[in-house]
Amino acid sequence: MIVDVSAAAGEAAIEGIRARVEASGGRTRVSRTAESIAIACTGLGAAHAHAIAELPGVRSVRTGGPAHILAGRAFCQIPTLVRAGDDPRTWFGGTGFAVIAGPCSVEGRDMLMSTADEIHAAGAGLLRGGAFKPRTSPYAFQGLGQEALVLLAEARSRTGMPVVTEVLDVRHLDLVAAHADVLQIGARNMQNFSLLAEVGRVQRPVLLKRGPSATISELLGAAEYILAHGNSDVILCERGIRSFDTATRNTLDVAAIPVLKRETHLPVIVDPSHAAGRADIVTALSLSAAAAGADGLIIEVHPDPASALSDGPQSLTPESFRTLMTVLEPVVQAVGRWLAPPPLVRRDATPDVRRIGMEAAA
Ligand code: PEP
Ligand code: MN
Repeated sequence: MIVDVSAAAGEAAIEGIRARVEASGGRTRVSRTAESIAIACTGLGAAHAHAIAELPGVRSVRTGGPAHILAGRAFCQIPTLVRAGDDPRTWFGGTGFAVIAGPCSVEGRDMLMSTADEIHAAGAGLLRGGAFKPRTSPYAFQGLGQEALVLLAEARSRTGMPVVTEVLDVRHLDLVAAHADVLQIGARNMQNFSLLAEVGRVQRPVLLKRGPSATISELLGAAEYILAHGNSDVILCERGIRSFDTATRNTLDVAAIPVLKRETHLPVIVDPSHAAGRADIVTALSLSAAAAGADGLIIEVHPDPASALSDGPQSLTPESFRTLMTVLEPVVQAVGRWLAPPPLVRRDATPDVRRIGMEAAA
């Protein structure tokens, strides 16, 4: 249920509505724009709608919307800006286009540091690298675990780039959160609801990947879990879905980008590497994602893809990543965004739209 409050209503009216909803066992979240105030009421049956409609300040009560009430545009019309660091290249959902790059797995110190240096020089904003890997075979490389997390933290100190890594298991959450700036929930865990609830309690941005067989609605339902548990910094990621075609590892669902951008205020990025499964079309998919309105990319880069312990065939060399960044720039500009922050825009001149958008639970 969404309660639209008259713009003229004061704080006392808003608090009165919240108190009434919460006294009935519901939870509230407020969203404000310059013209409107909306209160999302979750955990409350539609039977309460009539009584709430009579409260002072209420303009209308909307019921029967989608289950992803907090993630939906119906509640919060302003795009959410998720910041992974201070540099505007690490912000998702604003006018910039954020690029995350790095190896599928952290395999050792030298390969991580050299990749981090190369992608940083090429203009990437964030470093990725798997420490705990979800592998289809139990005999495949499972990641270096804690050792990889320590190396990622070292690469962050060296380059200044925030690091993105996957939380595979709720038992690793504290350890991963102690080292990483963005917590990745992998495609295979998209509907691991207890893990989603736990990352919802952590104040750290979450990169939520779409499951290979998940509908857009199920992806939004997964995001809703994280939001409902108190974390509003969620970035959605389209990474290819399963289809009948074997020419690519997965099928990049480009349509998901504009559909999600209409349906939700959360930022949407694309992983062309796992969609393609092959390095030769990663650039083409990246350009299509930018043109379709994505807020950023996550790309696998390895210093020697042929020797990679995971996902070598889809990994770009540092050199091809540099080329990708060069051809990406005009496409990003053509859709009215920037890849490198315009030098004349001061960081503090960009409003924190998230704060205006959705307020955390009281
Ligand atoms: C990854 O990013 O390396 C990964 C395992 O991705 P996904 O969960 O999308 O398969
Ligand atoms: Mn991978």
